[in-house]
Amino acid sequence: GYRYESSAAAAAASDSSSQAPPPAEKFEYQAEVSRLMDLIVNSLYSNKEVFLRELISNASDALDKLRYLSVTNPELSKVAADLDIRIYADKENGVITLTDSGIGMTRQEIVDCLGTIAQSGTAKFLKALKDNKDAGGDNNLIGQFGVGFYSAFLVADRVTVSTKSPKSDKQYVWEGEADSSSYTIKEETDPQLMIPRGTRITLHLKRDDKGFADPERVQKLVKNYSQFVSFPIYTWQEKG
Ligand code: ADP
Ligand code: MG
Repeated sequence: GYRYESSAAAAAASDSSSQAPPPAEKFEYQAEVSRLMDLIVNSLYSNKEVFLRELISNASDALDKLRYLSVTNPELSKVAADLDIRIYADKENGVITLTDSGIGMTRQEIVDCLGTIAQSGTAKFLKALKDNKDAGGDNNLIGQFGVGFYSAFLVADRVTVSTKSPKSDKQYVWEGEADSSSYTIKEETDPQLMIPRGTRITLHLKRDDKGFADPERVQKLVKNYSQFVSFPIYTWQEKG
């Protein structure tokens, strides 16, 4: 098993002079993202399991970025040995947690990446969707282009992203819901949820999709979709 380090957070929490963190701030999605979310949430796309591939691919990108940075940054070089992806499937509660020890995001990067369409793949997707308006082909398009991070909403009705960049001394939490045109960002303050760096994504699965929160199923999907990821992927297993 493993646990998250929490020493820095615990120290901060015990400092009674520290002020209460500012409350969660609310943001509206860019119009294109709203459209994309609508589409994802309401689609009859049956190959929902692609969400895991997308999230693992993002985790792998984040680990690559950290590794690249660590080459030129001596402060980070000692962490470069500790690059992995951990998946915890909580069957009982229908929750999947995916943690990477990668580059993480600053608060500004969260706003730039998880509320707008920055990446070319998704932009292409929306363009293709427009062209295909009459064909009703959006279900195919989801699979064809991949919809990146937002594919989490294929299976989850609530998603939280808690993330810590080496560029920031604070950890932030993004939270979005399937049927909302807005998301929130707040500072992570729960000492138990602190990570030294990287990103933890928590998927609160839709009622009909809770079956994905099964370690065996997760492992199978990892094998099928992510066998070429160059970082170790650990799936939490109960020891009998
Ligand atoms: P893409 O991977 O094509 O850029 P995504 O929608 O999958 O598009 O992700 C959007 C952006 O969000 C990424 O480019 C990255 O900047 C950020 N991001 C997503 N997941 C993570 C993560 N685990 N760690 C750091 N950044 C992430
Ligand atoms: Mg991606």
